Amino acid sequence: MSLLNLENLTATYGVSQALFGVDLTMEEGEVTALMGRNGMGKTTTVKAICRMIASEGGLSLDGQDLHGLPSHRVARMGVGLVPEGRRCFADLTVRENLIAAARPGDWTLETVFQLFPRLGEREGQRAVSLSGGEQQMLAIGRALMTNPRLLILDEATEGLAPIVRQEIWAALRKLRSETSVAILLIDKSLAELSAVSDKAVILERGKTVWSGPMAELGNDITERYVGV
Ligand code: ATP
Repeated sequence: MSLLNLENLTATYGVSQALFGVDLTMEEGEVTALMGRNGMGKTTTVKAICRMIASEGGLSLDGQDLHGLPSHRVARMGVGLVPEGRRCFADLTVRENLIAAARPGDWTLETVFQLFPRLGEREGQRAVSLSGGEQQMLAIGRALMTNPRLLILDEATEGLAPIVRQEIWAALRKLRSETSVAILLIDKSLAELSAVSDKAVILERGKTVWSGPMAELGNDITERYVGV
């Protein structure tokens, strides 16, 4: 049984339909890139998985239907989200932000600080005083503290300096090689996405138009659907 399964998923914002049939399957420990041009439905797909928007069609985690469950239940089932725009508690310290998210498992303050040593150095600082890159590391650290089975990152390197982006990609490579967490990634950097992902799923106008092993994703497909 797959870890995550979306089958012909549809979703609407009020009267405006955004997803028209998303198919996506993920196995444990697998890294999947969710790709497509702006406005094609990537963030909406993530919101549907996390039950932040109503949807119809197949949506299950470990074979359990997620429809009808509130977001916090989906989080407790093992879905950790690093949302677009970070969203840490600005007035809490790094340590407090991490502890607030903690659930039992291998990820603890210590292991998060091993992955992102800068967070350890700033553990007593309020989140608001961190740089953009450090806030992003904190957002990833918070999601890891929930000890997820599926980690979702929506544009985690957006707007960051190249050197900080590299630190985040290095951390993702480490998660891939050293842990069994499955990762669903949305990012604009095709080169980095291709290097770290096992699979790709491409959306066009709210529908899956291509999916398969990253190694089989040819230039013709990326030119056509991702605009490179
Ligand atoms: P981007 O890379 O720009 O974030 P995306 O692929 O994540 O794009 P979505 O944000 O999921 O795309 O948007 C899919 C469609 O839903 C778009 O047509 C968008 O205009 C629409 N949409 C997104 N958010 C809302 C909203 N809150 N209300 C109404 N329509 C929305």
